[in-house]
Amino acid sequence: MRDAMPFPIKVCVVCGEEFELRPDKPGFANRCLECSVEEDTSGSEFGHSMDADERKSEREANEARRKAIRDLLYRKDS
Ligand SMILES: [Zn+2]
Repeated sequence: MRDAMPFPIKVCVVCGEEFELRPDKPGFANRCLECSVEEDTSGSEFGHSMDADERKSEREANEARRKAIRDLLYRKDS
């Protein structure tokens, strides 16, 4: 299901994570969905404990970032 990615991939200017720029995405075009909605959670970044879902999505995000960096390095060679 997640293999189909018809939307352009952008990098969030706030957290640096990649996200799909969907036409119906609320918030800023250069911010991921989470950073668009979490405007008012100032300073609480590390104040909450992660549940399993959060840990899973963070791990997936880290993997995506590593992959993006790899792609970037390869692109430099061309
Ligand atoms: Zn973000």
